[in-house]
Amino acid sequence: MPSSVANEGYKYQSSIGSRNTSSGSPPVVPNVDVDVVDESIAQLQLDTHHAHNQDAVVVSNKLRSAWKVKGSSLSLNTHNRIRNIVEALKIKPNPLKPMIPLSIGDPTIFGNLKAADETMKAVLKSVESGKFNGYAHTQGHEASRVAVAKYSAHQRIDGDIDPNDVVLCSGCSAALEYCILALADRGQNVLVPRPGFCLYHTLTEGLGIEVRYYDLLPELEWRADLKQLESLIDENTAALLINNPSNPCGSVFDKEHLMQLVDICERHYLPIIADEIYEHFVFPGSHHVAVSNLTREVPVLSCGGLTKRFLVPGWRMGWIIVHDQHKRLGNALTGLKNMCGRILGSNTIIQGALPDILTKTPQSYFDGVIDVLHSNAQLAYKLLKQVRGINPIMPNGAMYMMIGVCIERFPEFKDDTHFVQELVNEQSVFCLPGSCFEYPGYVRIVLTVPSTMIEEACVRIAEFCEAHFKKESRALIEHNLLDDAHVDY
Ligand SMILES: *Cc1c(COP(=O)(O)O)cnc(C)c1O
Repeated sequence: MPSSVANEGYKYQSSIGSRNTSSGSPPVVPNVDVDVVDESIAQLQLDTHHAHNQDAVVVSNKLRSAWKVKGSSLSLNTHNRIRNIVEALKIKPNPLKPMIPLSIGDPTIFGNLKAADETMKAVLKSVESGKFNGYAHTQGHEASRVAVAKYSAHQRIDGDIDPNDVVLCSGCSAALEYCILALADRGQNVLVPRPGFCLYHTLTEGLGIEVRYYDLLPELEWRADLKQLESLIDENTAALLINNPSNPCGSVFDKEHLMQLVDICERHYLPIIADEIYEHFVFPGSHHVAVSNLTREVPVLSCGGLTKRFLVPGWRMGWIIVHDQHKRLGNALTGLKNMCGRILGSNTIIQGALPDILTKTPQSYFDGVIDVLHSNAQLAYKLLKQVRGINPIMPNGAMYMMIGVCIERFPEFKDDTHFVQELVNEQSVFCLPGSCFEYPGYVRIVLTVPSTMIEEACVRIAEFCEAHFKKESRALIEHNLLDDAHVDY
């Protein structure tokens, strides 16, 4: 809403307030659009709330004459892009072929990847101790934060993290939400990657925080386009969000590239929110460096958690680690800690188990998971690389692969979403369209499914592409320039 309208509302409200107290007669307000007034009241309340000015509360004596419940603007402007796009697809899987969902980012659903026994025993012990049924400190139990601080020591140049700089959250999603809310106000903007995880958009748009997309370049192993990124920054930019390793790209930034990003942030006084939920999910030959380990100058809020590495997304255990050696976050750090008071912390049973989970889950377990993901990636890459019209990009980490779809070569399909829909309908293979990640022209597959399913899915994708591939591009077909002599497929 333009601020002039809000101000009008404010004046209008004040006059009602004063009339109420002086005469008690009902306010007579001609020619005022009721909805505008309602919105103004909402804005007024928001402004009042922001100003912490309890005295300014104005009670209208105008009463409702009917039910008039309305969703808040935050709730109505909160959207999950994946859900919206997927729900709009007209999907009817081929009944002759069993469904292979390569769309679901939950690694536990196929039963081939399970949490380690040590991880689960730690939770049993936590339950049996009977010590973790109560509320914890809103940032999390001290012993649990000490455990996370030790586990994350590699994120700090000096290797020493104060447990007070650890905030336990309900999953990495909540960690990201707290960081964004602590740093950005309505009217400010946050830089996020494209292609990128759609949650960043979901968390911000309803709050009136603008998302600005910086491009990741597939031809440069999904490194950020630094020039374009820097051109997005202005004085209202609240943070740069880096997701490394990346969902959906599966790329891993090298140290040099991270230094370039840090350098930009240093020059523009811009804090970093680092979504490093996949920090240990890198394939042999690649190496993950925590961005916080590369700078003492730029404050970094690192978000992580148990979800992916320990294969327990339902446990909802994530955390923020504050890296701010020069105390540049100022009262944003206070704000971050205030955020913890909203839902009074994360699940205490898992908090109680954290020290054991983080120290007793053996390296061999993690290696086994990486092995599955890596060999699935190699298998999918090998099979899809030979297929005409698509171009798989080999990931170096995380649990996904992006596949370029040269939609020009599939003139029957409008775009990536249409391609995905028909792939389900003909072959019962479900990938997510790149549009879910702000990146049309690609599809994303997950690599956590059993390898037999990966293989079968790739065979079916190949069959689908062969059936619809046209050697002549869409432009030629649309302009009716094709005669049969040109087509040789
Ligand atoms: C899965 C995922 C998360 C969220 O993890 P939760 O702990 O389940 O909230 C955050 N960021 C990225 C990039 C993810 O893929």
